[in-house]
Amino acid sequence: MQNFQPEEVIVEGDSVGSPIYQNLRRALPQVPFRFVDDIAVKNGALSGLGDAFGSAKKRLYLAKHKGEFLKKCPGSEGQVCCNYFVINFASNCPMDCSYCYLQEYLADNAALKVFSNVGDLIDEADATLKKHRGVFFRIGTGEITDSLALEPYTGMVREILPYFAEQANVLLELKTKSDCVDTLLDLDPKGRVVVGWSMNPQRVIDADEHATASLTARLNAARRVQDAGYRLGFHFDPMIEYSGWEIDYCAMLEQTFATIDWRKLSWVSLGVLRDTLGLKRTMRQRFPRSQLLTGEQVLCPDGKLRYYQPLRVAMYRQMVGWIRQAAPTVKIYLCMESREVWEQVFGYAPSCEKELGNQLGNLGF
Ligand code: SF4
Repeated sequence: MQNFQPEEVIVEGDSVGSPIYQNLRRALPQVPFRFVDDIAVKNGALSGLGDAFGSAKKRLYLAKHKGEFLKKCPGSEGQVCCNYFVINFASNCPMDCSYCYLQEYLADNAALKVFSNVGDLIDEADATLKKHRGVFFRIGTGEITDSLALEPYTGMVREILPYFAEQANVLLELKTKSDCVDTLLDLDPKGRVVVGWSMNPQRVIDADEHATASLTARLNAARRVQDAGYRLGFHFDPMIEYSGWEIDYCAMLEQTFATIDWRKLSWVSLGVLRDTLGLKRTMRQRFPRSQLLTGEQVLCPDGKLRYYQPLRVAMYRQMVGWIRQAAPTVKIYLCMESREVWEQVFGYAPSCEKELGNQLGNLGF
């Protein structure tokens, strides 16, 4: 991925002394640091700039997180949920996909923030994991940021991974479109860390996944973490329909399974492009040339726009067929899809979110 060079790093006073601050200082010696008493960044502070959301990605804030770190993934109303938990150690992302839902979700608070109180994060997770020892937690860190894109600068994952690798009832997923894996390679994940890549053909990456790693770079990074003992996940999501999509997606799968050992794959997810009317408005302003604005979509009961259901089902069936040829027993699930679509694609739908969560968490511990 492109090197991240923020214009400045703004540090809340009591974050000085945190390991993340020290890592940023080491990694960004040429970037000016500014110190403030209190960070209260709203888009108001960014007004006057043509592309406030894009501009927000160029300034990095380091502050304590004042709320809870661990929460249940909100999922989407009426869709089959996979019982996933999320830890938010940062907010916003240095990359800039045209379809990114953060453009809407973080519209009122777009600042690129990293949270410095790593100790509080671990204490909170520890209390929850100990209180529910009988529950198996799948925890992701890529809900409102990319899990690894800032890792060369913040070293956040390096700070938290050793704790999670020791916990018997957790699987930590790091989800990324970057190739920033260098700092992970000498850590021992003890079989409890999945590095999951969001995948698309190079044509889609070039058109709509700005500043992310190329397809080949993602796959080479996946190969490196696999060799270092990590489990892998792939999220073919959002799948984009266009003339000739089948050729590109089939070739991407061939390249994927020629590069990594599918037996190290914990799961594969599939999902099609989804957005909202509000997100489309933002996309029109920020990425007016994107082809994603031209395809036909229908409004679904959860308020999201998706391709017409028969087209989604056909795309999923096609992908499942190709994946099964290369990786016959890998776990495949659909992200944010209805029971109806599950049944048409797989011939069944999980009876409840716990069933799907357990299937995905059951990795032979
Ligand atoms: S990598 Fe993910 S979080 Fe970052 S801009 Fe793209 S979709 Fe958004």
